[in-house]
Amino acid sequence: MEEAVALYIHIPFCKQKCFYCDFPSFSGKESLMIDYAKALSFEISQVKNRVKTIFIGGGTPTYLSLDGWNIIKKALDKLNKMENLEFTIEGNPGSFTEDKLKFFKDMGVNRLSIGVQAMQDDILRSLGRIHTVEDFKNSFNMARNIGFDNINLDIMFGVPNQSLKDYENTLKEAVKMNPEHISCYSLIIEEGTKFCNNLKNLSLPSEEEERLMYETTIKILKNSGYEQYEISNYSKVNKECRHNLVYWSLEDYIGCGSSAHSYVKGSRYRNEIDINEYILKIKEKGNAKVEEKINTRKNNMEEFMFLGLRKNKGISKEDFYRKFKLDIYSVYGNTIEKYKKLNFIVDKGDNIYLTQSGLQVSNNIMSDFLLD
Ligand code: SF4
Repeated sequence: MEEAVALYIHIPFCKQKCFYCDFPSFSGKESLMIDYAKALSFEISQVKNRVKTIFIGGGTPTYLSLDGWNIIKKALDKLNKMENLEFTIEGNPGSFTEDKLKFFKDMGVNRLSIGVQAMQDDILRSLGRIHTVEDFKNSFNMARNIGFDNINLDIMFGVPNQSLKDYENTLKEAVKMNPEHISCYSLIIEEGTKFCNNLKNLSLPSEEEERLMYETTIKILKNSGYEQYEISNYSKVNKECRHNLVYWSLEDYIGCGSSAHSYVKGSRYRNEIDINEYILKIKEKGNAKVEEKINTRKNNMEEFMFLGLRKNKGISKEDFYRKFKLDIYSVYGNTIEKYKKLNFIVDKGDNIYLTQSGLQVSNNIMSDFLLD
């Protein structure tokens, strides 16, 4: 029997492009929605593995028309899903309608991820978001009323014109809504975005303020019953996102849709990013793969460490041995010892993990796990 996998499904449509966004998402492509849904359904129907988690991301999945969803649902219904499937869909306030939410519930979705980003209308406007705080609250309450009992909120910090006080208020307002999961990401200015083109006019928080925002996140969320389990992710007990844990544990996943990435049996591949091209390739060849790389054993070890150390629990020494038939200390002994002495890494029981001070400088530490 095929291994159980996680399935990522990409919906590349957005009503408007946010000023900071470099995700493979597009506005003004609504006329392609139906053809895209058909091509995507074909790709989904090729997945024969048992599926343990589904994550529909984007783009704005909730922006796709119900006609489009009706087409995709037929392919999703035929998947070989495991009984305790975690099935997440992302959406933006303002694009949730009652009809769509009920449709998703019927399709088996049992987890929603809502991009609220900030709880101040002026900050939302300056990010280029299409919704207000009130839109968010309405969407959230609508989802609760329809019976969604597992909801994540995405929040951003380090954004233009945001004070520490603003950010604290955002966290406190988020906690008041009592979601099961909260993700807090710091803004990164990416090339090609409106923010990048207008960088000199942006009033960004200092590095010190950003550090304080990160520490505030941990403090406020911990006091409100959310445990940090990954650099940017916090959840109530047993509400971690199982789909994302697959990525951080270097387990297999299949991506369907334009620009979607896959990692299957040590091979990494990616689909065509352009929506038209994606549709064409699926029609002509039955797949839209444009890049494929077979990971070496060394690549896999490095990725196992980089990804695993993002988790607060870190990596399991036993898992490392199971995957690579080597004691982790015979490969990474010097690096681990070096960071243990600096109090950035702890080795306890079966786990090796970063301390809070280690997490703050995680990028530097991770680069030391590259093998030459
Ligand atoms: S809604 Fe999400 S994917 Fe779409 S432009 Fe904004 S940040 Fe990007």
